[in-house]
Amino acid sequence: MQENRRKKTGQKDFAKNRKTHKKAEEIKKVREGGRHGNTTGKESGENMKRSLCPVSKRCGGCQMLDVPYDRQLQEKQKNVEGLLKGFCRVYPIVGMEDPFHYRNKVHAAFGYKKGEAVSGVYREGTHEIVPVERCMLEDEKADQIIGTIRGMLKSFKIRTYDEETGYGLLRHVLVKRGFATGQIMVVLVTTSPIFPSRNNFVKALRKKHPEITTIIQNLNDRFTSMVLGEREKVLYGKGYIEDRLCGCTFRISSKSFYQVNPVQTEKLYAKAIEAAALTGKETVIDAYCGIGTIGLIAAGKAGRVIGVELNQDAVRDGVQNARTNKISNIQFYHNDAGRFMTGMAQDGEKVDVVFLDPPRSGSTEEFIRAVAVLAPDRVVYVSCNPETLARDLKVFRGGGYQAEGAWPYDLFPHTGHVETVVLIQRKDT
Ligand code: SAH
Repeated sequence: MQENRRKKTGQKDFAKNRKTHKKAEEIKKVREGGRHGNTTGKESGENMKRSLCPVSKRCGGCQMLDVPYDRQLQEKQKNVEGLLKGFCRVYPIVGMEDPFHYRNKVHAAFGYKKGEAVSGVYREGTHEIVPVERCMLEDEKADQIIGTIRGMLKSFKIRTYDEETGYGLLRHVLVKRGFATGQIMVVLVTTSPIFPSRNNFVKALRKKHPEITTIIQNLNDRFTSMVLGEREKVLYGKGYIEDRLCGCTFRISSKSFYQVNPVQTEKLYAKAIEAAALTGKETVIDAYCGIGTIGLIAAGKAGRVIGVELNQDAVRDGVQNARTNKISNIQFYHNDAGRFMTGMAQDGEKVDVVFLDPPRSGSTEEFIRAVAVLAPDRVVYVSCNPETLARDLKVFRGGGYQAEGAWPYDLFPHTGHVETVVLIQRKDT
């Protein structure tokens, strides 16, 4: 039953994807005619002809932009199938109806090129900035705001950061947008806490973009590849934004993780929760929980939920999110997930379902061994990297757990990345 429904959805998405690609082809033709250019950099006519985005090759953020979307999906499907062969069935990947401008978080590095302030992305493996004005993946409003900020720098005499000399104030701009709420956060990452004419700058930016709901100054004065530093100051608004997913409201601060593609995330989480087959009585762990998204959405269907997360800011957001959504059967712990689970296993706790949603590096043997001791009936693994997923499934198998099915979701169109939900069951249940 369920499978049929999923198949239909998959087919519908594929058909729409083809349509979307047609639309993309049209855009491409117009671009080739020279009416649009989407970067500040001068590009050769040849490159313009080849790509939907003139800087895609140098930026490296969307390796598959010029591959038709349905083919991208086929390739991702094949990739997941290849890696999970021998573990379980892989269901058809769920793609996007409109696979453009899906990113709700946009980051731009600021610097200098030939004496001019530029903003964009670092060329892969370097610290050379590739200027970007408009990106096919990023939220368009966020790109506009970044462009506005770049345009304001001269009149406010704000120098952008020069990595070689270490001079300059503005290093990065980060924009996060709640697609469901419309709330927008702008983070100005500076090398110094002293920001001349800060108030006027904020006022002028808000005037140009009244839709901005909060502005933060983040201090990053270190030689590091991290975008955000530790200290920050709220210059306007609440210092965080909110978004809604699967009926819950989530508070997102500058540093906490939040999925970048909320449209697909809703489908992904719905699948993860469906796979857990909760009845209302279970004790559930949401490991690598971030701001508590999966656990909070599951809480209404579970007895109690325990969230564990390493990032302190995200934990704080999670606690607040529980309050906002009036959810009282969830507790959050600030800890390493492996260490926490080992502690739970040593204390002989009883757990029925474990969700885990680790970073690209995957989970750890320590974590999986502790799960095997805790012996939950079901484990739902949400993975953003099928390679580490396959590696971890092997460890689960060694611990007496069997993968029952894998459901890939395209959360990152035009890139090589793919997200997968896997239901893993204890063998003797
Ligand atoms: N489930 C959340 C977050 C997933 S991203 C969501 O969907 O929004 C992965 C999360 O794992 C991040 O929030 C990161 O801070 C956290 N993390 C990374 N290493 C960890 C570790 N060793 N222990 C616990 N959490 C960790």
